[in-house]
Amino acid sequence: MSAAVDFRTCPLCEATCGLRVELDGREVRSVRGDPDDVFSHGFICPKGASLAELHADPDRLTTPLVRRGGELVEAGWDEAFEVIEAGLAPILADGDRNAVGAYLGNPNAHTLDGAIHLRALLKGLGSRNIYSASSVDQLPKQIAVGLMFGAGLAVPIPDVDRTEHLLVLGANPLASNGSLLTAPDLRGRLRRLRERGGRLVVVDPRRSRTAELADEHHFIRPARDAHLLAAIGHTVLTEGLADPGRLAGLSSGLDTIAELLAPFSPEAVAPDCGIAAPEIRRMARELAAAPRAAVYARIGTTTQEFGTLASWLVDVLNVITGNLDRPGGAMFPLAAAGQSNAAGEPGRGRGVRLGRWSSRVRGLAESFGELPVACLAEEIETPGEGRIRALLTVAGNPVVSTPNAARMRAALSSLEFMVSIDCYVNETTSLADVILPVPSPLERSHYDLAFYQLSVRNVANFSPPALPLRDGMVEEWRTMLRLLGVVTGQGPDADTDAIDDLIALEAARRETVTAGSPATGMEPEAVLAKLGDRRGPERVLDLLLRCGPYGAGLNGGRGGGDEVALSLGALERAPHGIDLGPLQPRLPEMLRTPSGKIELCPEPITADLERLQASLGCTNGDMVLIGRRHLRSNNSWLHNLPHLVRGADRCTMHVSPADAARLGLDDGARARVASRAGAVEIPVEVTDAIMDGVISIPHGWGHDAEGNRLRVAAEHSGVNSNLLADETVVDPLSGNAVLNGIPVEVAPA
Ligand code: SF4
Repeated sequence: MSAAVDFRTCPLCEATCGLRVELDGREVRSVRGDPDDVFSHGFICPKGASLAELHADPDRLTTPLVRRGGELVEAGWDEAFEVIEAGLAPILADGDRNAVGAYLGNPNAHTLDGAIHLRALLKGLGSRNIYSASSVDQLPKQIAVGLMFGAGLAVPIPDVDRTEHLLVLGANPLASNGSLLTAPDLRGRLRRLRERGGRLVVVDPRRSRTAELADEHHFIRPARDAHLLAAIGHTVLTEGLADPGRLAGLSSGLDTIAELLAPFSPEAVAPDCGIAAPEIRRMARELAAAPRAAVYARIGTTTQEFGTLASWLVDVLNVITGNLDRPGGAMFPLAAAGQSNAAGEPGRGRGVRLGRWSSRVRGLAESFGELPVACLAEEIETPGEGRIRALLTVAGNPVVSTPNAARMRAALSSLEFMVSIDCYVNETTSLADVILPVPSPLERSHYDLAFYQLSVRNVANFSPPALPLRDGMVEEWRTMLRLLGVVTGQGPDADTDAIDDLIALEAARRETVTAGSPATGMEPEAVLAKLGDRRGPERVLDLLLRCGPYGAGLNGGRGGGDEVALSLGALERAPHGIDLGPLQPRLPEMLRTPSGKIELCPEPITADLERLQASLGCTNGDMVLIGRRHLRSNNSWLHNLPHLVRGADRCTMHVSPADAARLGLDDGARARVASRAGAVEIPVEVTDAIMDGVISIPHGWGHDAEGNRLRVAAEHSGVNSNLLADETVVDPLSGNAVLNGIPVEVAPA
């Protein structure tokens, strides 16, 4: 068979790089960057290049597994669904929908099935016990922007390509390739920022790869970012440097910010941050003086005890310096499909609704339909009405990814029934009663519904499947709909086409009642009829594209002349994607707050400043633990690919030379690290790239769990840093787990 070339978007991280995949039948000959991709222009990282290994990985599941005699053994799809029906139906028959919970992993944000049909499955499940990786990641940012701008994905994105001053906290985009910031080749973009005379300032307890590239780097004590941001805001306001410009008229609460930040002078926070007050003042002055500047913060600032406050303060600074919503500042993307603040009446909305219910045991608040995963284990363990007796996991590995991993593993082991949709038998799915496999990334279509909403440039790119499904494989959305049949009492043989029609009809109905949509006023059935005979998530995507801000409409009549007229068909004819241009100012149109203003001082957030003030002068421990990322890791799930784990052991503990000498730790020897939650032993790496009083251990490792079927990963096991994370400590506003700034004791092993 001759070679074929497929152009597709990499589904592995937020950067959405274009790939050029050379295929020989079902074999992948090569994966390279697509030089013609309108967004990534040929950039590729080692993870993208490993797509061939992922496709060919012999440990990747291609058939369902069911537990028989204690062992997971291969089974047919019908048999697997009979076991699921037998496991779930009696629990649901007891009448408590909350008895079946769900945990959703990060990869769901990267698939159409996870974005569209999984939602329908969760709705059918009707449980309040929904958890996801969001609450060990970005949830505080979503809550902050939800309260400020009215939508949970209304995250201001640093306009990296045009800014002249970028202040980065707790983020390492050279390793992560961008997070809540979709931008291929961030190394190149940041290098160009400096080449045009711009300034890159990085604040991090580690001198990360991004910090090495920066003009200046400041060590900061973990979990003291909110203190620093408040002091920068204090300086800007007290020194008369604030210049919000047109944002003043678009914001409410601007007048009270100075009073709220009054306790946080640079002199007050300097001892906590470990940054001298004059340095903080200089950082503030330079930020305010830059003609175009942006503040950007990520995981080090969200997975910590002041996560929501820090996330809020980032955008307070962007507002008071006048940099929000202007080129070179922090801007709002306008995605082609599925963006809640691009549909309906512009400039006003009902805002976000948080805390509609609380967790049963600890009373942690719901947000965006989910409860914080820090309370999942106790919701399984604690008897009483509403206890989780069965769990569905979809592309999730909570045993590695969530706090107090040992307790989580024990809790999952105690479930009456567990079913997982996943591509591997890993630390979590090895505990399931049934595992349902998913197609290879090359056997499924791809469109980044979520990440184009966080993109540094407006872009749309659709990838049809490169290969037909292998024999015996089932599209993931059909698997989800069969599960939906089970949890809604239709049984395992429910008609998935009929359910799919209902999902598409509901999406069409929503468009018919959305102001400004080309479907407004039409009958939903008539809308569907316009979409032809597509099925599954692609049909809904076509609808969203047609009715979106660049849409072709439903009659193909919109967008004449030079205007872009998007539909799925149009994207199919553009294999390198369609560039929709640089970000444009979107205020006030993008606001969805009830007031129609930027809510600069949301009460739940400003009330928490008291806690921030109370922490002044309080240490969070003699030694504290933070995480770290690596370019060749992607949370817990790509360590079975030889290309990504070769080379020196990456799962080591970084410690400063002074701390190593003080604690008797030798480079290359092993250390014992203990916290309230647990203890691990890990090789020591002494480096001056970490500040005194801090150790760093990467997350996503610990692949030596019993039952794993990850042969390569097992040889590079590493240790699970979440054995140390304390599930009882959360950011109170979001319930997000505290994974940075964990007090630990460190000694030679
Ligand atoms: S940066 Fe992300 S999207 Fe780009 S090739 Fe690497 S993993 Fe794929």
